Amino acid sequence: MLWHPYTQMKHASRLPKMVAGNGVMMELEDGRKLIDGISSWWSVIHGYNHPVLNAALAKQAGKFAHVMLGGLTHEPALQLAEALVRITPAGLNHVFFSDSGSIGVEVALKTAIQHWKNLGHLGKTKIVSLKNGYHGDTFKAMEVSDDSDFSRAFADVLHRGYIVDIPPGGFDATAADVQPAVDQLEQLFSSNSERIAAFIVEPIVQCAGGFHIYSPLYLQAARELCNKYNVLLIFDEVATGFGRTGKLFAAEHAGVTPDIMVVGKALTAGYVGHAATLSTDAVFNSFLGADYEKALMHGPTFMANALACTVALKSIELIEQNDYLSKITQINAIINREFDTISSPHIAGKRSIGAIGVIEVKDATTLSGFKAFAMDEGVWLRPIGKVLYLMPPYIIEPDELISIINLMRKWINRST
Ligand SMILES: *Cc1c(COP(=O)(O)O)cnc(C)c1O
Repeated sequence: MLWHPYTQMKHASRLPKMVAGNGVMMELEDGRKLIDGISSWWSVIHGYNHPVLNAALAKQAGKFAHVMLGGLTHEPALQLAEALVRITPAGLNHVFFSDSGSIGVEVALKTAIQHWKNLGHLGKTKIVSLKNGYHGDTFKAMEVSDDSDFSRAFADVLHRGYIVDIPPGGFDATAADVQPAVDQLEQLFSSNSERIAAFIVEPIVQCAGGFHIYSPLYLQAARELCNKYNVLLIFDEVATGFGRTGKLFAAEHAGVTPDIMVVGKALTAGYVGHAATLSTDAVFNSFLGADYEKALMHGPTFMANALACTVALKSIELIEQNDYLSKITQINAIINREFDTISSPHIAGKRSIGAIGVIEVKDATTLSGFKAFAMDEGVWLRPIGKVLYLMPPYIIEPDELISIINLMRKWINRST
């Protein structure tokens, strides 16, 4: 029997079955058609069954679907590495592929710790991360994520580093709003710099941990502090990458280049699980030398899978050729306009950035039953805790987007 994620299987006997997808629509076995409001965990940015992506995959499959990257190279991997270096913040010049976001984060953390080891700083092994952060489900990724339902069962076997606060005030916070969080970070760095290898953050938007948005000023200050105290800065852009926040990468809001950056989810447009961990020259160069032990000791079997690389390349081409950033700006304008007309005593806050819209309620029970209601109304949305959010495919039409938001409004008003 199939075992589902984050699911109490006692209640999971009759999950709806998807049989076809087309554009933003998912078709279920019982004939229902749903607009996917969350892009299948934020990955299906061009919608389902995209003819251009399908054709690129078929063509590559006719040559070879996969070859090991140990001791061999191939064109899709070389081209995707080059494309990622070109589109990510300047200075990230080296690309390590892996098969999922969590593993991409593992690679980032291993790279950071081994970087300092290779340079002779043996004590720099701890990782600093943000409150509410989510970086994946593998062990080290859980350690740098905030304590939550995701990791509670393992609390006594996790070796946690340090957790610091995100600044209040959202994207438009003032320097004064941000300063206490910056001071906290500096205090931690200044008294522990010999122990700290890296600071990992989801830049600008923390997704699975509750969709908290914070100021680019904080990232700029973090960059300076990381330089000052010899700490590597890691951006986990697994959720925010490829346009989701209105810039191609969230780092661009701050004009900051991290030392290491992880991308995943939308990288392959929802077709094949894959991730990439990018590093600067300074990080990469610390792995060079006469000793084999200085090399990065990681190598997923399916890293740089040729189908994954091919579909990622084609996806980047679609983003660039079809001016997706303007589409995302339009999506954001519609979200803001429609959200302005939603009000209820149940609402604790509303926020948006790029193609992300979030309504947070005061009490999670307000949202119980919402998923089934949305399905009956032809929409696939899945609240997380107190957060009702949408992250649609970028190809969504305005009327489809409005119908999703109308549904959110209808539910919130119904429970008033
Ligand atoms: C989803 C996510 C991950 C984990 O990616 P998987 O592909 O599910 O392993 C890591 N970091 C962030 C920010 C994510 O949103």
